[in-house]
Amino acid sequence: MQRRQLTTRKGKTYTLPMFLPVYQPKSNLIPIDDFKNKFAIEGLILNGFFLYKEAEVREKLEAGVSVQEYIGFNGMVMTDSGAFQGLKRPLYLSNKKIVKFQDVILADIVSPLDLISPPGDNFQTADKKLDSTIKRIREAKEIVQNGILAGVQQGGRFIELRKKSMHALMEIGVEYIAIGSLVPFFNKNHSLSTIKKILRDARSIAGEDLPIHVYGAGDPVELPFIAALGTDIFDSSSYGHYAASGWYMTKYGALTKDQMDKITQCDCKCEACVEAKESGNPEAIFTDRGKLAFHNLYTILDTMNNIRSAIDSNELEKILQDILDVHSLWFPQSLLKQSWEEPNGK
Ligand SMILES: [Zn+2]
Repeated sequence: MQRRQLTTRKGKTYTLPMFLPVYQPKSNLIPIDDFKNKFAIEGLILNGFFLYKEAEVREKLEAGVSVQEYIGFNGMVMTDSGAFQGLKRPLYLSNKKIVKFQDVILADIVSPLDLISPPGDNFQTADKKLDSTIKRIREAKEIVQNGILAGVQQGGRFIELRKKSMHALMEIGVEYIAIGSLVPFFNKNHSLSTIKKILRDARSIAGEDLPIHVYGAGDPVELPFIAALGTDIFDSSSYGHYAASGWYMTKYGALTKDQMDKITQCDCKCEACVEAKESGNPEAIFTDRGKLAFHNLYTILDTMNNIRSAIDSNELEKILQDILDVHSLWFPQSLLKQSWEEPNGK
């Protein structure tokens, strides 16, 4: 297994895999300066639709301020289209307009307004959404000039639709694959059954070189497995929303304040944990959402670094085994081990 690379239109090359934290300019739990100075983040993702719907921000950006200048960040910036918000309510937003907007503000990776297909969609609905998504990607391909367009795979829970979607994306000639609507499958007690098949198929159809992004993947216990399935780019706001609900991420699974014994075992070296330990009260980490988010992001990025070195030294399998051993002890109800070890094709 080799680490793939991604070169943006600006000519910067990034070695994968990489994690793009979601950044919300006005309400982020971790300030952009910490992203840059404390975490040396190489890339992030923000919601292009949120920028677009705020008249004042939109005008500023359309007048020639790039998204990088607007948020004060020089690395890779991917924008999202509002597709996720469109799942809950009508957006009155056209694919053309939101794609053009992302391109004008110089996003490095541009997302089309795809149609999300949750696991509950029946075959016909998932198929229709897939076809509309493909049409929108064709339309977007004609518009995008400054960035790289993400070719979004849909198809819901249907393996054959997922494949159909991949073949259509390859025919369009996209340079970047993003796997949509996969997150709900993780929520089922870490079961990898469905995603294993979808991701292996996607990699085999995409070939060895194309970067594959899984939208919304951000639990450190799952990232090494998703990476082992041939995917390279992950994004999530998990570091913040886990913190908001009092979850402390570890590489073996997220814990709460009631599990301080396990948290102590992990012996995290991040600034927030060290500060809490030195204060004599390690639990203090749970009293400040910003600090808990800081710890969570540190854990995700540390996991990414471990994945990178493990790929280089051909030891990813060892990492997976270590996670499976500890995770299964800590969370006997989890489906992670069983779903990972079950034979292919299930
Ligand atoms: Zn920590």
